[in-house]
Amino acid sequence: MSTSKTIVWFRQDLRISDNPALSEAAENGSIIPVYILDDENAGERKMGAASRVWLHHSLQKLNDALDGNLVLAKGDASQIIPELIKKTGANAVYWNRCYEPWRIDRDKKIKEQLEADGIEAKSFNGSLLWEPWNTLKDDGTPYKVFTPFYKKGCLNAEAPREPLSAPSSLSFEKTDSLKLDELDLLPHDREGNWDGEMVKEWTIGEDGAHARLKEFLNDGGIDDYKEGRNMPAQTNVSRLSPHLHWGEVSPNQVWYAAIGKNDPHEKNTAHFLSELGWREFSYSLLYHFPDLHWKNMQEKFDDFPWSDEDSEALEAWQNGQTGYPIVDAGMRELYATGYMHNRVRMIVGSFLVKHLLIHWHKGEAWFWNCLVDADAASNTASWQWIAGSGADAAPYFRIFNPITQGEKFDKEGEYIRKWVPELYDIPNKYLNRPWEAPDNVLEYAKVTLGETYPKPIIEHFEARDRALEAFQSIKKAA
Ligand code: FAD
Repeated sequence: MSTSKTIVWFRQDLRISDNPALSEAAENGSIIPVYILDDENAGERKMGAASRVWLHHSLQKLNDALDGNLVLAKGDASQIIPELIKKTGANAVYWNRCYEPWRIDRDKKIKEQLEADGIEAKSFNGSLLWEPWNTLKDDGTPYKVFTPFYKKGCLNAEAPREPLSAPSSLSFEKTDSLKLDELDLLPHDREGNWDGEMVKEWTIGEDGAHARLKEFLNDGGIDDYKEGRNMPAQTNVSRLSPHLHWGEVSPNQVWYAAIGKNDPHEKNTAHFLSELGWREFSYSLLYHFPDLHWKNMQEKFDDFPWSDEDSEALEAWQNGQTGYPIVDAGMRELYATGYMHNRVRMIVGSFLVKHLLIHWHKGEAWFWNCLVDADAASNTASWQWIAGSGADAAPYFRIFNPITQGEKFDKEGEYIRKWVPELYDIPNKYLNRPWEAPDNVLEYAKVTLGETYPKPIIEHFEARDRALEAFQSIKKAA
């Protein structure tokens, strides 16, 4: 048995199984498992409120799985790691790689310093099926379009690594730790017990992630994924995104569980796998274009005439008070649960940037604060996609109509009635356009527009024309 003492630095891999850094460290000797809340290096990209709540509960679960041995710290990781080495006599530090630009810069520096000090520093791939430097085009440049990225860059490359089982035993070195509450991850600022209500929606932690995956695969969710994934009231999406973001389950575990149960070419399974591919694509974009969170990939959007003074409209959007029921339902789902269905993310995103002409940065920032799956890669890439400024983006002139989108994808109005209960008794015919309902219908449903539910903050066709005009202005300039 080797006498190695390894610090295993947990980050976005809050699990025991299929954790390459943990498995190798456990084979070499004893471990010191550590989580460092490093807001200092994150700077303006530090985690939002909902993410912190998730992290709090996930760390609790991870600590339980490590028999109470998880060491918690707060501050600049490049100082904390050397201090821990001094305290514990560790001779190695292992971690699974992260891909946000600030983390890459920090981790590189830490690795160099450790190596200079004679400490083994080793990083692993624990979060992606294909790392960004392995999915390049033949000419060595990154793909900017999803389909060739996925088909040629990913599916034609080596198959993803098969998941590892959890180490059969772990032996720990003891050292002192902050208490979980001392990380101060739970909120003080918003009214009421919002975080308590939000976490009731989820089973946070590794066991919860696997239970979710099993339920999705075994209870029919995946069987109608291709069509059903567009319907926010249906259970045809996995809701695995926060578990994947925090690494409570690895994409490899999800990938192999899906193809272990079904033929990978069957249309629903293939579509589900391709959505995991979109996650990989977002990471590839972030890695190769590290300014993705603020810089338009298409430069012509730098001159787009955003109407950024409209803070009233922004607030109405954030609070789910736009007067468009499908938009309001989505924004309220987000605030209450930390999640929003993908179809609705697209509708509310389009509404913000096209109907309200508000910069995608503002939408990205609100999602960053409110989502439990807030992810530097997927959130920024998706907002650029919605705004039309991304590399492989929805064309700007394709403007979602929030009325017909609601009618098409929430036909029976179950999703809207759940999140906008004041419209519960409005018949389906008028549910997405309550302003067209006759007085007796509104009276029966106890709805007074402008009082119990807002009138639309902007008329759809007027907004559409305004957006197209704004787009024409940058097209002409380009
Ligand atoms: P499923 O349909 O079950 O898909 C399985 C997994 O594939 C997801 O868990 C996710 O990891 C991945 N995935 C699915 N769709 C996408 C996509 N379009 N892009 C990247 N990965 C995808 N996803 C995040 O994980 N974090 C974010 O911060 C985020 N922000 C978004 C912002 C906007 C404006 C939009 C339009 C989309 C955003 N997405 C984000 C992508 C997508 O909406 C979510 O991944 C998805 O809704 C998660 O639900 P699910 O787990 O049920 O997905």
